[in-house]
Amino acid sequence: MTSYATRKVSCPRCGHEDSCRLTVAVRAEDEPELVEDLRAGRLRVFACSACEHAYAVDDPLAWLDFERKHWIVCLPAGGEHAWRTYENDSMTAWRESMVTHAPPLVRDMSGGFTVRTVFGLAALRDKVVALHAGLDDAWLEVLKLDIMRSVLRFVPEDRPRLIDMRDEAMIFTVATRPDELLSIPRSTYDALCMDPLSWLAAHEEVTRGPYVDVGRLLFSGRAEASVESLPQP
Ligand SMILES: [Zn+2]
Repeated sequence: MTSYATRKVSCPRCGHEDSCRLTVAVRAEDEPELVEDLRAGRLRVFACSACEHAYAVDDPLAWLDFERKHWIVCLPAGGEHAWRTYENDSMTAWRESMVTHAPPLVRDMSGGFTVRTVFGLAALRDKVVALHAGLDDAWLEVLKLDIMRSVLRFVPEDRPRLIDMRDEAMIFTVATRPDELLSIPRSTYDALCMDPLSWLAAHEEVTRGPYVDVGRLLFSGRAEASVESLPQP
């Protein structure tokens, strides 16, 4: 079941404190509107009651989909610098809920889950858009690596985020190019998947754990853990 919690949040522009009702665990298969909110970049976006500035609340969120078999733990973006500390949170939560403490019926359906840890709502949106489109997220990350090296720069600010699939194109945003969208033909992704040997090292690198992200190569992940982790779903 989708669950909510009331949290105090403060506006990043004026500092005004509001109390808001936040989703803390989403059962995506039952929540087409929340899926749409995420895909449109509206999930957890609140307007400050003092200055009307709209901002996203970057708190931990469990994104579960029992139909598609997705188990995604979304932690605050700031945690990415310590990804080595957090990346197994999703696997631990999945194992405890679906295997260790699960009744036989649940345990029977635990196979085949895609278990991922992501940092920040933009990363969650990217992951969900990709998985819903039937993409392999590891190859998507390899594609990002290729795009960054060939078209952009290999720095964290230039990491593309998938926001949509349109016809035969993959649509990305890039933080350093706020006024334009980056459109990459789906065939570029397909060509990459068809040539695994050329990309073996990169593919191995991004799939070493549940944090399947080109960020594994961009951040050492050894910073001190500084963000709130996820309450057990
Ligand atoms: Zn404000």
